[in-house]
Amino acid sequence: MRIDIISVLPELVEPFMQESIVGRAQRRGLAEIHIHNLRDWSVRRDRRVDDYPYGGSAGMVLQCEPIDRCITELQGQRHYDEVIFTTPDGEQFSQPMANELSLKENIIILCGHYKGIDHRLREHLITREVSIGDYVLTGGELAAAVMADAIVRVIPGAIGDEQSALSDSFQDNLLAPPVYTRPADYRGWRVPDILLSGHEANIRQWELQQSMERTARLRPDLLKQ
Ligand code: SAM
Repeated sequence: MRIDIISVLPELVEPFMQESIVGRAQRRGLAEIHIHNLRDWSVRRDRRVDDYPYGGSAGMVLQCEPIDRCITELQGQRHYDEVIFTTPDGEQFSQPMANELSLKENIIILCGHYKGIDHRLREHLITREVSIGDYVLTGGELAAAVMADAIVRVIPGAIGDEQSALSDSFQDNLLAPPVYTRPADYRGWRVPDILLSGHEANIRQWELQQSMERTARLRPDLLKQ
């Protein structure tokens, strides 16, 4: 799949996309992430892409024209399944949404900045508005990085052991069971005997029970879903 990220601060997201699972998925040809500097589509000599808000309130607003020019140019090159705007008042990002977006071929993620983008873009160009949580970030770059990471890691082959993505929290609306590694006894803190038993079926059963118990205790809302 291909993800195009549009930002006024591309240098914030670029290094992240080269590392870890997202970087490896790109090197394996499973994902392509292209980061675009919105200022390249500015129509002003000073490369600015923002202006004062109508109505006289505080802050600056990203203008229609550079964003429209950038998205239209990209859409002229290929079909995009979604043009996503990152925004605190959007639909809440979640594991099911990450799974769903990982099946798309091409998506655009537009990062806002300042007070946000001119609302007409949201009415006419944006197909989906997504929030990563009920708090306000300075820009959409961290939100785009969070989304790209969660989306790319569920693409088959992105993680060495594919099962490990499927057994993470929120797949099947359950929290993950606890995990342990060697040594089996550290300062008298022992790994549960069942995990050392070698009995595969009993271990899977124990993990499921742990997941259910932890979900009921920590996130009962998930079980209701
Ligand atoms: N004035 C906006 C509001 O109150 O909803 C907040 C603007 S915020 C300072 C600047 C940009 O950061 C937003 O346009 C958006 O792209 C991004 N952003 C901030 N918080 C976010 C969140 N929780 N999820 C996704 N994007 C967010």
